[in-house]
Amino acid sequence: MAPPKTLSAPQKALHKLGLESPLSLALHLPFRYEDDTQLTPLREAQNGEPIQFEAVVLSHEVVYRPKRQLKVDVLSDGLTCTLRFFNFYPSQLKQFQVGATLRLKGEVKGGMFGLSMMHPSVQIAGAALPDTLTPIYASTAGLAQSYLRKAVLSGLKKASELRLFEPTIPPSLEPAQVWPLGEALQFLHLPKRGTQLHALQDPTHPAWRRLKAEELLAQQLSQMKARLARSKVKAPVLKLSLGMEQHQAPPLTQALRAQLPFALTGAQERVLGEIAKDLSLATPMHRLLQGDVGSGKTVVAALAAAQCIDAGWQCALMAPTEILAHQHFEKLSSWLEPLLTARGLKVAWLTGSQKKKEKTLSLSEIESGQAALVIGTHAIIQDQVKFKNLALAIIDEQHRFGVEQRLTLRKKSQVGDEVSHAEPEPEPHLLMMSATPIPRTLAMSYFADLDVSTLDELPPGRTPVVTKLFAEHKRAELIERVKHQIREGFQVYWVCPLIEESESMDLTNATQTHLELSLALKALTDLGGEASGALKDAQVGLLHSRMPEAEKKAVMHAFKEGRLHVLVSTTVIEVGVDVPNASLMVIEHAERFGLSQLHQLRGRVGRGSAASTCVLLYALGEHGRLSETASQRLKAMLQTQDGFEIAKRDLDIRGPGEFLGARQSGASLLRYADPLLDMDLMAWAQALAPKMWAEHAQMAMAHLERWQTLRSEYLKA
Ligand code: ADP
Ligand code: MG
Repeated sequence: MAPPKTLSAPQKALHKLGLESPLSLALHLPFRYEDDTQLTPLREAQNGEPIQFEAVVLSHEVVYRPKRQLKVDVLSDGLTCTLRFFNFYPSQLKQFQVGATLRLKGEVKGGMFGLSMMHPSVQIAGAALPDTLTPIYASTAGLAQSYLRKAVLSGLKKASELRLFEPTIPPSLEPAQVWPLGEALQFLHLPKRGTQLHALQDPTHPAWRRLKAEELLAQQLSQMKARLARSKVKAPVLKLSLGMEQHQAPPLTQALRAQLPFALTGAQERVLGEIAKDLSLATPMHRLLQGDVGSGKTVVAALAAAQCIDAGWQCALMAPTEILAHQHFEKLSSWLEPLLTARGLKVAWLTGSQKKKEKTLSLSEIESGQAALVIGTHAIIQDQVKFKNLALAIIDEQHRFGVEQRLTLRKKSQVGDEVSHAEPEPEPHLLMMSATPIPRTLAMSYFADLDVSTLDELPPGRTPVVTKLFAEHKRAELIERVKHQIREGFQVYWVCPLIEESESMDLTNATQTHLELSLALKALTDLGGEASGALKDAQVGLLHSRMPEAEKKAVMHAFKEGRLHVLVSTTVIEVGVDVPNASLMVIEHAERFGLSQLHQLRGRVGRGSAASTCVLLYALGEHGRLSETASQRLKAMLQTQDGFEIAKRDLDIRGPGEFLGARQSGASLLRYADPLLDMDLMAWAQALAPKMWAEHAQMAMAHLERWQTLRSEYLKA
């Protein structure tokens, strides 16, 4: 009988990293190297640099001061050096017998009491030196480098035996300056003695270029494949109804437009045209609507929903937070509810925190189709939610959702009964909205399977927000400004930073600020006289992520209605909140926020006609200075309000990898290539992909298969 198959701890760790197949192991590349191929005289040791040398043991002893430790004195190159070990087994003492010759590796420190090394790696001297540099791999807890290295190298060998590195690109179509894959991997995993470290880390090295080129091609191929697959999927045709033949009343789209309190901007009209055209086709729309904060995406979503409802189908709008979803619900209900009621339809609300009874009602309205529009949070994609005929799914702040969640929503349109048909299930049209503009070059590479509409114009009548920097010591002056705003009848946001390490600290912070402001405003009230007018009832609200949803909603509602004058908040208000009467935004510890985040926050003010201000309150770091990146970010905030310019600067400061981090974008990530740095390879891949599908389909499939392993792995991560 075969023994039960249980995984050892390191095997489990490999599994966790997605390193199981020979190919995935072979493609797990080192992030740095150590050079064990040579011995260096101890005299040449540099402080803080690792060195390998051989030495003779002079003495060893276990001492107890200041802490139990093993102290070994060794002699090499005419110098003595003290080795210290705090963790050691008694059995280890054997190797330190006086007179033994050892090979030691580690950092040598010079100090008042001579040279010393902490926990060097120790081997018996004399073994042959390796003839390749030692690769160091990204690992995880419970997985030693030595184990991982063995696994990777055996994966490399096996993959090569299985001929997995065979070319998948016709030789005449290869990009310039690339090595064959097998050679590239061999070089990167096992660089020969004497290989320069900078050559190994040079992104333009032909070994790296091979990986980047293949990866970029895989990305293009898979996006083309997705696009082709999508072109075969059917979606409901949502024709804009032009006349009155179907309804007594004019179509919803027209009625909604007629009652909007404003005229649409040119940009809104243009993107609506793009969306309307997609919706009227029988293949599912896959469109990203990007527009800066305040550019008016919501009304575009509402009109798209109206087109869908006009055609007799259901629409769902999903937002990442309950506050945002609820705001959409309020706004869209106020616009649409009366019009829908006249048609026997309604807007349904769905979230996780809902009371059971209310939820059951919403669910049944969604299933019966009476709910023509469903607005809510992730709750919308739960299994129990059954649509009668979902035809349009809108996702706000799409980068907050994962790929899986977006896919689930797309699968929500089982139309009709369970009778199986040979044709693929129809899918709803998908409209994703984002206020984080993606520079064109990036959008093209990451979203080749997306059509992009851009709102590049703000609604008229906005007064630009004045941005100011305030040092922490001018806090009192700032509080005076807050009072002034309230006296003038305006409202104020005060944002406290999220402290990554500790959620409770971020809470304390906000709570304290709330108290401080409450007291400051109260003191003024008590003085009576002139100040007492508007400030008599000055109320300060507090909003943070750990409050129950109902309470959050109540606070937000009170602020919206003007019953709260100041809203102290952690970053929960970051996305989408719309209170036009708020004219001052204070961002405390602005130096801790990312640039896009600052920009999003600033976008909460300047939504009405009043002149608005955003104050970036900053505190200097330990050395009485701001970090380089923090000052770059603050400077960018002072210099521009253009979301695209901000995105560009953000990209410059952070680099694309981080800019489109996995969680941030939900987009497929590149592991080796960087679409901005590797523009020539990007262009090559874009040009080659269609040719590959058309003329070398088999190779294209093989290529995708090679890289698919990896893609699914980092999508998981
Ligand atoms: P975002 O793109 O950030 O989601 P919103 O849709 O919340 O922006 O719109 C911001 C504000 O601008 C809202 O108060 C909205 O009613 C208003 N708005 C949208 N379009 C127009 C327009 N064409 N003219 C005037 N105001 C508009
Ligand atoms: Mg919005």
